[in-house]
Amino acid sequence: MRARNKPWADDFLKENNHIVELTPFDHKDKWKTVFNDNNPIHLEIGTGKGQFITGMAKQHKDVNFIGIEIAKSIIVSAVQKVSDSEQGNIRLINEDAKDLREFFGENEVEKIYLNFSDPWPKSRHEKRRLSYNTFLEQYRDILTENGEIILKTDNKSLFEYSLVSFSKFGMELDEVLLNLHEENDPLNVMTEYEEKFSEKGQAIYRCKASFKK
Ligand code: SAM
Repeated sequence: MRARNKPWADDFLKENNHIVELTPFDHKDKWKTVFNDNNPIHLEIGTGKGQFITGMAKQHKDVNFIGIEIAKSIIVSAVQKVSDSEQGNIRLINEDAKDLREFFGENEVEKIYLNFSDPWPKSRHEKRRLSYNTFLEQYRDILTENGEIILKTDNKSLFEYSLVSFSKFGMELDEVLLNLHEENDPLNVMTEYEEKFSEKGQAIYRCKASFKK
């Protein structure tokens, strides 16, 4: 996802610090106090412009959603969307997901969504894929015992790679769909990329995987 440099982004994020957590490491093990309730926490990695997280937060008011997005020029759009949605159960983090353990304690997150993650097709970039085993180690640590990863993509190679990576890590595959939209899942919330690719007629893949804890 490309976005132009936005020189006003820093000020915008500071003004919206009720939505963007500017010091997320301060909340490690304490996210429940941020939301002021005991609802489960779901995490989206690579939130993009925020369509999925706002849609999910409207649909599941008894869940708290946290979105992490590395690109400042992109997260500003998500912040605006969250603000417009007036949902109190969403927070955003402008950081790299490689440092997840600095932001979340053990068993603090119930579900992790990987939506249309960058595929990094070159093998020398394998370590950057969000389903690479160093990421899986972090997910295992922060997820609850029955926690789950839900991955959606249009990219067949990334999908296959992720299924193999999950299996090699000893995870259980709870669902594997090769054409999500054929299933008519009424609870599916589309991301920006999902809309774009499905309009072009591309199949959307989805899998759900869990760690055997
Ligand atoms: N999830 C959105 C969707 O489905 O429409 C956006 C998909 S876009 C292809 C991938 C997003 O993940 C980009 O916004 C990118 O900046 C973000 N991203 C990539 N690597 C990341 C990382 N290590 N930590 C946090 N965000 C990341």
